[in-house]
Amino acid sequence: MRFLILSDIHANLTALQAAIAAVEGRWDRALCLGDVVGYGPDPNEALDLVRSLNPVMIRGNHDKAACGVTDASDFNPVARIAAEWTTSQLRPENLTLLRELPMGPVQVNSITLVHGAVADEDEYVFAPGQALDGLLESPSSVTFFGHTHFQGGFSYRGTQLEVIQMKPLPGANFSALELEEGTRYLLNPGSIGQPRDGDPRAAFAIADMDHRVTEFWRVPYDVAAVQARMREAKLPEVLVQRLTFGR
Ligand code: ZN
Repeated sequence: MRFLILSDIHANLTALQAAIAAVEGRWDRALCLGDVVGYGPDPNEALDLVRSLNPVMIRGNHDKAACGVTDASDFNPVARIAAEWTTSQLRPENLTLLRELPMGPVQVNSITLVHGAVADEDEYVFAPGQALDGLLESPSSVTFFGHTHFQGGFSYRGTQLEVIQMKPLPGANFSALELEEGTRYLLNPGSIGQPRDGDPRAAFAIADMDHRVTEFWRVPYDVAAVQARMREAKLPEVLVQRLTFGR
């Protein structure tokens, strides 16, 4: 089974379309780690397209804020403005869909899905010290997480915790990580719609669990077209500009 793993799409339809087009016919089942909406200009369109993939989905913090499961009071001012705008745009059935999304961890076959940390869906896992608990406590040896918008992750074997950096080189579509037996993994596909690891290309992953390989993909998309829609919607300029740099 080859899983297409999407996270942090953030209402960026153009990036999502580019990602899906790049891997047509190369996956069997779609998984979505949350934050389909928030920040970007296309919340309904992004949700509609994700739903058409018939994925297993869990919720992210922006999904919760947009549909009123949580209020956006712990968001920074820019994220809050975007969350309020998103709520105002979402069609009723999409608000309902967001409200009904399950919280991670959710298990699909041999892998586990979370938005943030294994023990706390809202916690950021940036550093090895933050990853250790999840590596040890996850019900699966391979766990996918999102939330940080950094592609890569962590592995743990014996007493050895390693940071995995998997950004494909410019010009390459993906780089592959072999998943070793007896090693535990916490892997982040990166963000489709708002990368923050310095590479503006849309990030996602394909996990081939029969061959124990995860492909970390980067796909370029028309950033300027998305930025034009963001300016038209009067979304905060800082959110518009960060797409150029992937930071
Ligand atoms: Zn996010």
